Amino acid sequence: MTSRIPGFYKMTVEERRRTLKEARDLSNEQIAELAKNAPLSIETADNMIENVIGTFQLPLGLGLNFFINEKDYVVPMAIEEASVVASASHIAKIVRDAGGFTTEATERVMIGQIQVVGCTDFQGAKKKVLENKQIIIDAANDAYPSIKARGGGVEDLEVRILNEESDSPYEKMLIAHLFVDTRDAMGANIINTMAEAVAPLIEELTEGKVYLRILSNYADRSLAKARCVIPPELLQTGEFSGEEVRDGVIYAYQFAASDPYRAVTHNKGIMNGIDPVVIATGNDWRAVEAGAHAYAARNGKYTSMTIWSKDDDGNLVGELELPMSVGTVGGATKVHRLAKRALSLLEVESSKELAQVIVAVGLAQNLGALKALATDGIQKGHMALHSRSVAIAAGATEEMVDIIAKKLVEEKDIRVGKAKEWVERYTK
Ligand code: NDP
Repeated sequence: MTSRIPGFYKMTVEERRRTLKEARDLSNEQIAELAKNAPLSIETADNMIENVIGTFQLPLGLGLNFFINEKDYVVPMAIEEASVVASASHIAKIVRDAGGFTTEATERVMIGQIQVVGCTDFQGAKKKVLENKQIIIDAANDAYPSIKARGGGVEDLEVRILNEESDSPYEKMLIAHLFVDTRDAMGANIINTMAEAVAPLIEELTEGKVYLRILSNYADRSLAKARCVIPPELLQTGEFSGEEVRDGVIYAYQFAASDPYRAVTHNKGIMNGIDPVVIATGNDWRAVEAGAHAYAARNGKYTSMTIWSKDDDGNLVGELELPMSVGTVGGATKVHRLAKRALSLLEVESSKELAQVIVAVGLAQNLGALKALATDGIQKGHMALHSRSVAIAAGATEEMVDIIAKKLVEEKDIRVGKAKEWVERYTK
């Protein structure tokens, strides 16, 4: 299926569902799932977390026009913020016209950490663990044989000693890292099981005391990278030439690269694209958020997640590389009905492919924000799309929403206070 569906945004929700049904050859039942008011049944929800009293819904939209490594993707995005889906689709169209995104990913290797304190001889303990590396690896794999059978499992083990400096305010500790190929799973449960299983053996070898046994969300061996190259003529916007837009984007990047105050907001815009896909596919967005921000500070200073530059031909070049600990199995991916549907709409074959789509969306979202900021400013497009939510927040009934949103945009005064005045006027 092509991800180019011109005029999708102008259709009614019903028309969009019909278009999707035809394009993806979905059954009536599959499409009805999208229409159900409670796509997550209360029974399922009650089995997922504790103290359940209901379910919480978010709008689910489709990011269109994504062309990545010569393949089309319609990208499910679950998010409450206006203009994100529109902006991602807008930039994906530009990148598509420039040939599409190219992406790549490392192997999916996650890290499990085992913390040991109180060793009498830390160097000796480290040596002992390393000498028995294979025995520990085998024991970890025995604790989760099915992942080994799937072609994954523990690949390696490393040992670090922390706080060796005599003036360190913290206790000296030995940390063993298990490097685990978790295949298509995010892997937290797999790794935690393995780490807990080998802890007694490590305790015995080190003659110390094991405390923590858990995965690290700093998934720097599960990286995914997206790149785009855009000729300036595709960036021309209103009165701004393509070259001006390109240069504005590069200056915006350099601002974020050199100032944490700007970098945080710049990166929040990237996560505006990433989180909705992570959420829609039932993945753990806190894990992805934590890993992404840590990676942005990997050189000791928090900085921009993306890099924007100009190549020798004057094209704008964008790159984004992030840890992307997502799965196409496990967690909520197969428990939440809509997450299952979202994954099948994406048509990804593996977690590696999913990770690559997600970073491409993050890169698109970043360019969407930078392009708007470097030209008209973000409010013009954002507030117009936000006007409906403003009208609803002011108490507009369903029939009034469109009319009031239009008034707010016409008067260029998109505020809840103003919307309330209109609601009162119409109610009278
Ligand atoms: P699960 O334990 O839910 O599922 C993974 C299991 O899926 C595997 O063990 C495997 O079991 C099965 N499976 C089926 N097909 C495949 C395949 N192709 N590749 C790999 N596994 C496959 O999930 P995870 O271990 O991925 O853990 C993710 C969950 O853990 C998330 O919900 C996350 O929120 C949560 N979590 C996160 C933490 C953190 O981020 N710090 C901490 C603790 C939990 P089998 O082989 O037996 O079929």
